[in-house]
Amino acid sequence: MSAFVNEFMAELKAKNPGEPEFHQAAQEVAESLETVIEKNPKYRQAKILERIAEPERVIMFRVPWVDDKGEIQLNKGYRVEMNSAIGPYKGGLRFHPSVYLGLLKFLAFEQVFKNALTTLPMGGGKGGSNFDPKGKSDREVMAFCQSFMTELCRHIGDRTDIPAGDIGVGGREIGFMFGQYKRIKNEFVGVLTGKGIEFGGSLIRPEATGYGAVYFAAEMLATRDQTLEGKTCLVSGSGNVAQYTIEKILDLGGKPVTCSDSGGYIYDEAGFDRDRLVFLFELKNERRGRVSEYADKYPSAVYTPVDASKDCNALWDHKADCAFPSATQNEINEQDAQNLLKNGVYVVSEGANMPTVPEGVNLFVEKGILYGPGKAANAGGVATSGLEQSQNSLRLSWTREEVDARLHGIMKSIHRQCVDAAGAYGMDGNYVAGANIAGFLKVANAMMALGVV
Ligand code: NAP
Repeated sequence: MSAFVNEFMAELKAKNPGEPEFHQAAQEVAESLETVIEKNPKYRQAKILERIAEPERVIMFRVPWVDDKGEIQLNKGYRVEMNSAIGPYKGGLRFHPSVYLGLLKFLAFEQVFKNALTTLPMGGGKGGSNFDPKGKSDREVMAFCQSFMTELCRHIGDRTDIPAGDIGVGGREIGFMFGQYKRIKNEFVGVLTGKGIEFGGSLIRPEATGYGAVYFAAEMLATRDQTLEGKTCLVSGSGNVAQYTIEKILDLGGKPVTCSDSGGYIYDEAGFDRDRLVFLFELKNERRGRVSEYADKYPSAVYTPVDASKDCNALWDHKADCAFPSATQNEINEQDAQNLLKNGVYVVSEGANMPTVPEGVNLFVEKGILYGPGKAANAGGVATSGLEQSQNSLRLSWTREEVDARLHGIMKSIHRQCVDAAGAYGMDGNYVAGANIAGFLKVANAMMALGVV
């Protein structure tokens, strides 16, 4: 490792103690940029990477709300406004008990590079709360969202910072937050994306992250003159990203055989079909149930509960061609990565953010498989959020076909940027390096032009 990476990481860890996910994300980017920085000392002199790793602003606040028993509950709220060199802050809100500042800094940092790759003018941000929507009534979720937005609305705006969804934040939560924003500010503007179609949402936004991850896989396969037709695919998660990943795999002729939630996973040897997918949509989005119920309904499926005593996740230990991790960070450990390779997987397209630990990433890159890191492969979600903003500004709604065609075009462009940037720095086929370099250069050049701000 170069002196640059060592010095950068030592300083980052000293300034941001106790934030392992943020350190992990920053280390990967710094390592990818060694050659770029060596060839372009101006970026080092201007401390560009150091500045990208320091949020422009962090907002932290109290979120009090009243539960159905009349008791007062208290959560923490955050918004990390990471970088606005190429556009207003943009990035999702996560509601999950594991949320803390370091986790959001990792996600906001990743978002800066991802948004730069989309070709759209969007800076990076991320926010959320340690609130857990699971098991809460709709009224409790509304009470929390209204309290959260009562504070957040002072800091965001359609030209300043435009949040969207992420884990635990779907259409229901965005609706409640948009309602509260509109009520307090007395303005109907595109301040959130992922809105319902009736109040300014874009067609294809719910589908976009999953569809995009599959389009990205298809682009990677095309470099080997192959398609997804007939490929067996492992998918983790069963939320927004996983559901539409499964749908697009089916559209392109692949065979998805797994999905999961935090309780366990199902392996359906027969593969998902349209009817089973409709069941999953209804189970997860309406009844808010558990994937174990899928195995009760379909005898071809086997449910395996999570076993914390094991050093690997059995979901990643099935014969397959492709893997689409779509649940959460660090869900593929080194053993899982070895199991995937052993089982013949040679395409990994990350719907989730940073789902593979660094040792796993290194294995994928060393073995030369088609490995699309999250900041490239899952950028379709935020790209379509950008398209939602464009439609809101134009006061127009594009058709499903139009948005999907734009999303597809953006995913092709992201793929091309990764391939070109990796090639230009002598790392052909390394999508990790390609994504980090292409994203960095766009933001870095803008920051150079904007001066020391
Ligand atoms: P979601 O709808 O809330 O679904 C999350 C899924 O992952 C659920 O099945 C959940 O299971 C599972 N999960 C979450 N945390 C877990 C954990 N610690 N251990 C095991 N399983 C866990 O969220 P999503 O929007 O699909 O997001 C999934 C991933 O994609 C995240 O990494 C997110 O940052 C990334 N992403 C999302 C978007 C987007 O547009 N939504 C865009 C880019 C990237 P439970 O229900 O049991 O918790």
